[in-house]
Amino acid sequence: MLEFHTHTYRCKHAEGDIPDLARQAEKAGYTVLGISDHAPLPKDQNIEIRMSLDEVENYTEVFYEAKAAHPGIKMLLGMESEYFKEYENFYKDELFGKWNLNYLIQAQHLFYSDGRLVYFWRETPGADKLVLKAYAEAVVAGIESQIYSILAHPDLFGVFYAPWDEETAACSRYIIEAAQAYQMPLEINGNGFRKGITDICGIKRFQYPLEPFWEIAAEYDVPVVVNSDAHRPSELHPSSEGLALAERYQLKLAELADIRLSN
Ligand SMILES: [Zn+2]
Ligand SMILES: [Zn+2]
Repeated sequence: MLEFHTHTYRCKHAEGDIPDLARQAEKAGYTVLGISDHAPLPKDQNIEIRMSLDEVENYTEVFYEAKAAHPGIKMLLGMESEYFKEYENFYKDELFGKWNLNYLIQAQHLFYSDGRLVYFWRETPGADKLVLKAYAEAVVAGIESQIYSILAHPDLFGVFYAPWDEETAACSRYIIEAAQAYQMPLEINGNGFRKGITDICGIKRFQYPLEPFWEIAAEYDVPVVVNSDAHRPSELHPSSEGLALAERYQLKLAELADIRLSN
C-alpha cells in the first residue's frame, strides 16, 4: 500500500505529527509513506492554511528522525502546494534545492481568475464558467511546469461549480489530457469522501471526487493514486470508496515507479 498525501499540525488545520503518521502507517501495513504538509509560500503568504517558512527546518528534522525509526517503510519527504508561475524559482531553489524534498503534490486551492485570487472554499457555489476555466488553466500550467509529481483532487472544482455539464466535461478533458501528456498521476482524494455527501445548489453529491470526472479519465492512459489526504493520524488508512471508484472504472493504479521523485 502506498500513501503520498498526509498532513501535520503545522498547517493549522490538521492534528498530529510525522512520528504519529509513521506509527499509524506501520500499523496499517503501508510500504510507502509520503509526508506532504501544505508548503509555505514566499513572504509567508496565506500562512493561515500552511506551515511558515520558519517551520520547514523542524519539519525536515522530524521527518528524518521518523524515517530512521521506521526502516521498514519507505518514507518520502514531500509537500503540497499551489502552482503559481511567479514562485517557480522558490519551489525549485528552496523546496527542492535547499530542503531536498523528494516530491511536490500540486493542489490548486488558490488560483487567479481575471486578476482575483480565488480561495476555493470561500467561493459561493454556482456555475461561473470563468472561474471554472481559470481553475483548469492554473492546474494545467502546474502540470506543464513539471515541478509536481502528483495532481491532488483534480476534480476540486466540484466544490464551487455545481452542475455537471459540457463545461465541466471540457474542463475535465483539458486537465486529464495534460496529465496524460506528462504522465502525471491523478489523485482520487479520500478526504473528499470523508466530508460526505453535501447539498451544492440543490444537487446532493460529494464535493469531490466527481464520478463523471473519473468516468472520463478511464478513456485515457494516465495513472491514478488513491490517497487518504489524512489531516490526522487516524485518517491514514486506504480509502475504500476511493479504491472502489478506481475499480469501477478500471483505472490504472500508479506504482512507486510512476511517481517522479527527486533526490
Ligand atoms: Zn489541508
Ligand atoms: Zn492535502
